Amino acid sequence: MRRADRRRRRSHLAARRRRDRPQSLACFTRDLDVLPFPTRHLCRNELYVRPDTGAPQTTLVTNRGCPHRCTYCLASQVAGLANRYRSVENVLAEIRECVERYRITSFLFRSDLFTQDAAWVRRLCAAILDAGLQISWACNARVDTVDAETLAWMKRAGCWIASFGSRVVTKRRSTASRRTRPSPMPTAPSSSVVRPASSRASIY
Ligand code: SF4
Repeated sequence: MRRADRRRRRSHLAARRRRDRPQSLACFTRDLDVLPFPTRHLCRNELYVRPDTGAPQTTLVTNRGCPHRCTYCLASQVAGLANRYRSVENVLAEIRECVERYRITSFLFRSDLFTQDAAWVRRLCAAILDAGLQISWACNARVDTVDAETLAWMKRAGCWIASFGSRVVTKRRSTASRRTRPSPMPTAPSSSVVRPASSRASIY
């Protein structure tokens, strides 16, 4: 390889390393409880519905960031490697506001990885149950962060569906994925397994 080519390649690799480096925690708000609730009174909330039932639904961010670095996912770069959780009390207050002020009882917990901290998940579920809130919700999960007991808590507290990221499928998809976003991870494809509670699983 000629010297100019080697230099170009070194510069390309350095740029790629910079791009794939997760953002430092210093870039992010650590205490998410200081952030105000969304100004839902400025939205036409009736436009947002649960796709299968048509019931009003809103998204609610319970935590941000993810310590994993799945090849196809930008979470660590967009929100950092530390999973920053809001307090259970703060999340519960926003749920209450949605229920009491906006009559919304269906939620999409829009978090990179909702289930990273099983103890936090169980505390939130217990708080929802103690408050007598009749809500349904969906979340993102990862198979190695859940166990049967946590899933049972989630279901009791209103979780009806959880999305799981997976790294599998065919060599062709793996190669295509690596081409679009290089990564140290050994395999790559992007796919999700969605399992409605007590029903079948689907992969897409
Ligand atoms: S797919 Fe899920 S587990 Fe993987 S990096 Fe993204 S948020 Fe984290």
